[in-house]
Amino acid sequence: MLDDKTISDLHKAFAGSPNGFLVVDQGQPSFAVLPYQTYQTLRQAQGMPKKKIKKVLVTGGAGYIGSHTVKLLLDEGFEVVVFDNLSTGRREAVGDTELVMGDLADRTALDKVFKKNKFDAVIHFAASIEVEESVADPAKYYQNNVVNGLNLLDAMAQNGVSKIVFSSSAAVYGEPDKTPIHEDSSCNPTNPYGETKLAFEKILKWYAGAYGISSVSLRYFNAAGALGEEGLGYDKSLRHTHLIPRVLDAALGKTAEIEVFGKDYKTPDGTCVRDYIHVLDLASAHIASLHKLEKDSGAHVYNVGTGKGYSVLEIIDAAVEVTGRMIPMKFADRRPGDPAKIFADSSKLQKELGWKPEHDLKSIIQSSWEWQKSS
Ligand code: UDP
Repeated sequence: MLDDKTISDLHKAFAGSPNGFLVVDQGQPSFAVLPYQTYQTLRQAQGMPKKKIKKVLVTGGAGYIGSHTVKLLLDEGFEVVVFDNLSTGRREAVGDTELVMGDLADRTALDKVFKKNKFDAVIHFAASIEVEESVADPAKYYQNNVVNGLNLLDAMAQNGVSKIVFSSSAAVYGEPDKTPIHEDSSCNPTNPYGETKLAFEKILKWYAGAYGISSVSLRYFNAAGALGEEGLGYDKSLRHTHLIPRVLDAALGKTAEIEVFGKDYKTPDGTCVRDYIHVLDLASAHIASLHKLEKDSGAHVYNVGTGKGYSVLEIIDAAVEVTGRMIPMKFADRRPGDPAKIFADSSKLQKELGWKPEHDLKSIIQSSWEWQKSS
C-alpha cells in the first residue's frame, strides 16, 4: 500500500507524462508506471487469466432493487457488504448481510469501508429517484446522484477497485423519437433525475479511458414486482406513486379508485404504454453485468426491459384478473411530462450478456399483490 505522499508524487509525474514513465534506479529501469487502462489492455493482449469477482460493495443495497440484487448475489455465492444511509432503504431488507450505515457524501466513511474490505467490484444503487422531486429540488439530485457518485469513484480509484455496475434509467431518453428504444436512441432527459443519470453515465465513459474504471450502466425501464416470501419488496409505508402499487391499493380498498392519467395519447387505447420489468429480472441483469466486467474493460450501456409495452388500461385489466377484485377507476388529466409510449429494445443485453427476462406481467402483478396485501 502506498502512502498519500507517494500517490500524490505519482499523480504529479503522470501530469507531465500521461502515457506512463519508467522509474530508473541506479541507472537501471526498475519499474514501468502505466495508466491503468494501458495495463489492462496489455494484460488482455497477453491473455492473462481474468480475475473472478468475489466480493462486492452494494451502495443502496437496502433499497427496493438493491435488496433484491443482494439476495441474488448471495444465492450466487458472492460476498456482499451493503453501504446505505437508510434514508429510503429498509434495514429489514438487508437481513444478515453486513450493513455499513453511511452516506456517499462522507468520504472518510467510504475510505474506511474500502480499506477494511478487498472489493472486486461495486454495484451502485444509492441515489435519489423521484422525478417530481427532482424538478422541485434539482440541487438534491445533482448532489446525491452526481457529486456523491464522484466521491464513490474517487474512493474506488484510490483503493484499486476498477469495476462498477451503475443503476441508470430509461429516463435518460426523455421523449423517445421511436419505440422500441435502442441504446443508440437520442438521450434528451426531460427532468433533473434523468439528467443526473445521464451525467453519471458520461462520467463513467471518461473515467474508463482516463482511470481504467470499467462500468456497465443499466438503463432500467419500469421496475415492479416483489419477492414477498423473502420479505423483499417496495416500501409499503410510503405513499405510492407508481402505477401497479396504486392499482393494487384501489383493489385493496385503501384508495377509492385508480386515476388513469390521460386517455387521448396516440396509443391503441389512448392510455400510456410502459415496459414493466420484474425486479428479479433487473437483479439478474446485475449479475450478468459483473460477469461482463470480469471479461471486458470499458464503459458499457444496456437497456433492461422486457421489450413488451402495456397500456395503463391493460395493467388494470391484468390486476382485476390476478386479484379477482373490482378495481374502480376514473380518467383524469394527463400527468405533465409523461411520454405516450416507452418500451425497450433489450436485444443488446440479451445477445451480449446472455440475459433474458423470466417473469411475465402476470407474475409481476401476482408478486406485487402478495406483497402489498401482506401486513
Ligand atoms: N399512471 C396512472 N395513474 C397513476 C399512476 C401512474 O395513470 O396513479 C400512469 C402514468 O401516467 C404512466 C404509467 O402509469 O403513464 C406509469 O407510471 P409510473 O409512475 O408507474 O412510472 P413512470 O413510467 O412514470 O416512470
